[in-house]
Amino acid sequence: MRFHPCSRLKLRKAGNVASSELARDINRSSVLDSIRTGQPLSRADLARQTGLQRSTVSLIVDELIDEGWVVEGAFGQLPRGRRPRLLYLNTDRAGIIGINIMPRQTTIALADLNGHIRAQESIPTQPNPKSFIDVLSSYSRSLIQHHPEVTFEGIGISVPGRVDYRSQRLEFSANLGWHRVDLKGPLERSTGLSVQIENAANACALAEVWSGPHEGMSDLVAVTVSDGIGTGIIANGHLVRGPSGAAGEFGHVCMNPEGPVCRCGGRGCWEVYASNDAAIRNYCGQKPNRSRNARKSGDGPATSFTDILSLAERGDRGAGRALDEMARYLGLGTAMLINGLAPAVIVLVGEVTRAWKRVGPIIEKKVRECAHTHAATRIEPADDSKQPRLRGTIALVLQKHFRPRLFV
Ligand SMILES: [Zn+2]
Repeated sequence: MRFHPCSRLKLRKAGNVASSELARDINRSSVLDSIRTGQPLSRADLARQTGLQRSTVSLIVDELIDEGWVVEGAFGQLPRGRRPRLLYLNTDRAGIIGINIMPRQTTIALADLNGHIRAQESIPTQPNPKSFIDVLSSYSRSLIQHHPEVTFEGIGISVPGRVDYRSQRLEFSANLGWHRVDLKGPLERSTGLSVQIENAANACALAEVWSGPHEGMSDLVAVTVSDGIGTGIIANGHLVRGPSGAAGEFGHVCMNPEGPVCRCGGRGCWEVYASNDAAIRNYCGQKPNRSRNARKSGDGPATSFTDILSLAERGDRGAGRALDEMARYLGLGTAMLINGLAPAVIVLVGEVTRAWKRVGPIIEKKVRECAHTHAATRIEPADDSKQPRLRGTIALVLQKHFRPRLFV
């Protein structure tokens, strides 16, 4: 079997006992992930795919069956000899809770081990984090109680803000107006489940390379476009966080030092021109501060971004112009990402992708005008109907249990 270089380092430092535990964990993840990606498989298939001995595979499979991760299904076909029992992920038994927190709305979902969402509910996001954590705890406990047949493997949460990876605390979210919020501790105490929390763009990037159309890709950038703009960067197979977890804030790269004031305190940031809020302001003729104050006071902007999409679809010229302007700036920022990072793919995530026929060509044109590095980066919209942000929360939990292909 192959170890990642970091794993070898850990093995050398940890001593024999820890080494054997780590090797066992890696072997187990390797078997589990092979079943996930290739099911149904026999034990012999698994031995061939993982490079492990048949006896080791059998021991691991027995353990996975005992714990409810894997089930035996139909008999496979062989030209001669005993027909092997095929192995599947036990999607009926194990489940994950995913929580996607956005400034206006939060979605809570139950997914199975294949990442398929079996139930979901959306609730308004409350401005006070403390009381909102109580609400999330209550919903999570209710999901657990209503599905006694499910063994819950954990909770994944995505937030539009910066997360300290070590403490798993939300350090700052301009869009939520939350500072230094511990979601993990209270939720773990309340539900008894392990909680993983991640920046929304990072979670989307993980979901893309974990089980999305770009599975296994090692260089990808996910750009989440909503009230603001976030970027999740996977480079050389690693999620790029930076020492403080603040990497990827391309939404706050200055495009114009004389531009409108941004939520971050700067001026003329990319998200001031290319986010949903930018299109709303453009359409409503609002200044950024006015729009923000309106939301703080509870009035909210007169028009939502979804309204602008519908209006543009019905031929409203003002809404169309607002989308076109947003698309030009999305293209400008995308060109910056291509010039700086040259990933294989940039995936755009958000409601704006529903208007891809309109905005896609504008983005591509701007990129052709502004990116001259011959990076050959593809620009693709995530399928908004498949809820990429929510899938990201599920991937956070799943990737902890399966093969650690991303050493995050
Ligand atoms: Zn900013």
